[in-house]
Amino acid sequence: MFFNTHSHLNSEQLYSCRDQYICHAHEAGVEYIVIAGYDLLSSKKAVEIAREYKNIYATVGISPNDCLNVNDDEIREIEALLQDPCVVALGEIGLDYYWDDVPHHQQKDIFIKQIEIAKKYNKPIVIHARDAYEDTYNILKQTAHRGIMHCYSGSVEMAKRFIEIGYEISLAGPVTFKNAKVPKSVAENIGIDHLMIETDCPYLTPHPFRGKLNEPANVVYIAQEIAKLKNMEIEDVARITTFNAKRMFGIK
Ligand SMILES: [Zn+2]
Repeated sequence: MFFNTHSHLNSEQLYSCRDQYICHAHEAGVEYIVIAGYDLLSSKKAVEIAREYKNIYATVGISPNDCLNVNDDEIREIEALLQDPCVVALGEIGLDYYWDDVPHHQQKDIFIKQIEIAKKYNKPIVIHARDAYEDTYNILKQTAHRGIMHCYSGSVEMAKRFIEIGYEISLAGPVTFKNAKVPKSVAENIGIDHLMIETDCPYLTPHPFRGKLNEPANVVYIAQEIAKLKNMEIEDVARITTFNAKRMFGIK
């Protein structure tokens, strides 16, 4: 039984056929799926889908790439959505210096505001960090909360620093890529007790399906690669990463 901690069935590419993708996931043994919001609309859609299906949960939040024109009303709506019982975390939120569309100070401001809201309701946060690990780390250290480094692509050393301050590591498609030395070394060197698995679909399709649309069922390939790298049985990777995710999200 697999737990996919991050997918976007709320995205344009997957939303209209969500029934079919959820069916595929069940056939592949993926029992739990978290759908991540990245702006107000996608957060509302995530909640809508989570209300529709058993064992599907949502996160709500404004991502760093979507926070350029965000106003206080939208942040208040995110806060209201966060109180829905099917919403298990606030996210994805964070810092993204790769695209450079939004000034860094504004990204930080919206990031910190949302962390404070998550703390108020005692819900974990889902972090999107790209080319911004040091600043992300400093904010997470100062704000002292807990959560998941989603689609983690940093170094082993950085991963250990995040774990030290209450953040677990979620691995996605890149760990399966042939030349992806860094994610593979994270899978090898970080204890399975701190790992989770995700697809971040429709993006980052794992090997051997690169170039095709990604879907939640493909999380099995992430687990398979971790099992290979750690010399473990895939059943154990599935069981332990599911346990880790349930613990983080407070799912019984
Ligand atoms: Zn995402």
